[in-house]
Amino acid sequence: MNIKGKVVLSMLVVSTVLVVFWEYVSSPEGSFLWIYHTKTPEVGDSSSPREWWLPNWFNNRTHSYREEALEGGREKVRNEDSSEELPLWDWFSPKNRPEVLTLTPWKAPIVWEGTYNRARLEKHYARQKITVGLTVFAVGKYIEHYLEDFLDSANRYFMVGHRVIFYVMMDDASRMPSIHLSPLHSLQVFEIKSEKRWQDISMMRMKTIGDHILSHIQHEVDFLFCMDVDQVFQDSFGVETLGQLVAQLQAWWYKADHDEFTYERRELSAAYIPFGQGDFYYHAAIFGGTPIHILNLTRECFKGILQDKRNDIEAQWHDESHLNKYFLSNKPTKILSPEYCWDYHIGLPSEIKNVKVAWQTKEYNLVRSNV
Ligand code: UDP
Ligand code: MN
Repeated sequence: MNIKGKVVLSMLVVSTVLVVFWEYVSSPEGSFLWIYHTKTPEVGDSSSPREWWLPNWFNNRTHSYREEALEGGREKVRNEDSSEELPLWDWFSPKNRPEVLTLTPWKAPIVWEGTYNRARLEKHYARQKITVGLTVFAVGKYIEHYLEDFLDSANRYFMVGHRVIFYVMMDDASRMPSIHLSPLHSLQVFEIKSEKRWQDISMMRMKTIGDHILSHIQHEVDFLFCMDVDQVFQDSFGVETLGQLVAQLQAWWYKADHDEFTYERRELSAAYIPFGQGDFYYHAAIFGGTPIHILNLTRECFKGILQDKRNDIEAQWHDESHLNKYFLSNKPTKILSPEYCWDYHIGLPSEIKNVKVAWQTKEYNLVRSNV
């Protein structure tokens, strides 16, 4: 190529770079917004949920998540095995909250306000340059009702100072509210298929999250949280919540005896927990961990959900019942106090010192298509 050709070529390259950069800085979100269309084809119009679930979902049953994750190359799974956690005594001071339970029988910390040294943890995770993912689903009327408040508040309070990727799963991406994101935060929007019943929308999250961890999330984040959309952040939800497998105490049940818990009590269900067993009642509105741990969790819960479909039974609290069953044999390595997901309808007892996430008022008649 002669000199003139080289000059023209480099001018072309430079102008392309400039245009892309300009697109980036001038986008209203301050960062790229990726929209993916992953809708699966419509299924038959059968009115019985069982009839269409079985052929539709069982087609995918031979899918082996673990094998695929391993085939994909274990070195690609971020953080796995290489994740260094600070020793407990370095950041955790349970004696600051003597009035509440701060350690599980299997010695996992229960994180309450005042028990953690956030500065220490911040230093540790800043050195590791972590990225944290957060999945949230908004299908049907949940989009207009909750999504903007959830994302706005998450942008303000979730893992501030660290790289964050919000994974938003919705049935209609054109209704995505415009959100102003801070520079370290980014957003990926995926279109998913809706389900006819709200129970199925809720349970199907287990499958979708697992699929997305496998296909990309495992390569993009070190830790992943999965949350309901009908809640808002009110204060810092920070690095003290990170761990391999993190569970949330349900605000209405943290003082109850385990035989009162609303676990699934019918033996036929895969989520069955007999009386006399169980540690805590966990809330499905928030769970988290490393991608590989969440992959296993979602896979096991979804297996239970499918088994129940086959046996024509539905667990009392849907995915939450299966989640509680999972945590019974896979003990969380960290538990978040109800301050991390509080319902103000309970009032404000003295041990709730700092609410990080608050439930939105339940308006099922307005947001659910089948009540
Ligand atoms: N969801 C949704 N659309 C629906 C039903 C559920 O987007 O029609 C999602 C949404 O993220 C919601 C979650 O599934 O927060 C769980 O449902 P919901 O919050 O109604 O259950 P609850 O917290 O009352 O048990
Ligand atoms: Mn909810």
